[in-house]
Amino acid sequence: MNDPQIGIPTRAPAAKSVDDTILPFAVKALDLRGRIVRLGAAVDTILTSHDYPAPVAKLLGEAIVLTVMLGSALKFDGRFILQTQSDGPVRMLVVDFTSPGRVRACARFDAERIADAIAANEAQPGKLLGRGHLAMTIDQGPEMSRYQGLVPLEGGDLEDAAHEYFARSEQIPTRVRLAVAEEFRAGRNGARRHWRAGGILLQFLPNSIERARQADLDPGDAPPGTMPHVIPEDEAWVEGRSLVATIEDIELIDPALSSERLAYRLFHERGVRVFRPAPVQAQCSCSRDGVETMLKSFPQSDRDDMVEDGKITVTCEFCSSTYVFAPHELKTADARLL
Ligand SMILES: [Zn+2]
Repeated sequence: MNDPQIGIPTRAPAAKSVDDTILPFAVKALDLRGRIVRLGAAVDTILTSHDYPAPVAKLLGEAIVLTVMLGSALKFDGRFILQTQSDGPVRMLVVDFTSPGRVRACARFDAERIADAIAANEAQPGKLLGRGHLAMTIDQGPEMSRYQGLVPLEGGDLEDAAHEYFARSEQIPTRVRLAVAEEFRAGRNGARRHWRAGGILLQFLPNSIERARQADLDPGDAPPGTMPHVIPEDEAWVEGRSLVATIEDIELIDPALSSERLAYRLFHERGVRVFRPAPVQAQCSCSRDGVETMLKSFPQSDRDDMVEDGKITVTCEFCSSTYVFAPHELKTADARLL
C-alpha cells in the first residue's frame, strides 16, 4: 500500500514492543515531530546497580528518559549531560548520554531526609528536588565549545523543567511526558521487580515562525491594569499537545503496547510517519586505565591519604564498579626518582 501523494509505503504499526529504543516520528499534517523512548533492561540495569530508595530511583529513571530523549537528538558525536543541583532531599542527579546510545546515571541524596519524606508522604518528584537548577550540557569533544542551558527548579518536576527550558531557551512549543514504574516479573531465580521507563517528546515545528509563537509566560513589568498580551496558539499545536495530555503513564511503559502502536493510537487520524528506531544501552565509560590516569594526576600526598588497609579503592559513582590499586602501582615517574 502506498500513499499516492508522497510515495511512502504505509503499513500497520508493529505489534511487537522493543525495549531500549528511541522511535522518532513525524505528523506532517500538523507540523509535529517527536520521539518515543521505551526503556527496559537499560533503565533496570542502572537503577538496580545503585539500590537507591524507590522514590529516588523513580526520579532518576525520569531523568534518564528525559536525557535519552534530548541527547538522541544530537546530530553529531558527543555527550549530552543533564544535571540537577537543588536543596531538596535529592541534592543532585547526573545523567550522561554518549551518542549514539550509551547512558549512565547517578544520584546524590540525604538518606535521612528521604526517609522522612517517605514517612510524611512527601516523596513526589518536585518535593524531592526542591529548589535549585537543572543544567543541560552538550559536549562535542575537546576541540569544540561546550553549550550549557540552565533552567530554574522551583518545586516542580522534570517535565515542568523541560517545558520551561523549551519555552524560554529554544522557543519551540514542546510537550514532554515521562513515566517510570516497577514491574513484578517471574525469572529464573524467582520473581523480582524490574524497572521500566518510557516517555514521549512532541514539538511543533511549522515552517512559519509566526505560527510557533507562544503566549507570554510572564506579564513582565507592564503597568497594573495592562491587558496581557495574548497570542492564540496555533490550532495544529493545540491538537498535538491535547493528544499528548491524554497519554496515561501505563501507555508509556506497557510492554504489550509497542511505541509504533502508541504513535498510531495518538495520531492515526492525521497520518503518522515513523523513522528507524535507535537502540539505547546502559554502559558506563569508566575503566581501570581511566581511573589509574586520574589517580596519577593527583599529588602524591593526596594518594597517600587515600590508602586504606594498604590499598587504594575507587568506586565509580555511575556504575558501582570498584577498582583496587596497590600504592606502588600508582607511583608516577617523578615520584620514583625521589
Ligand atoms: Zn562506571
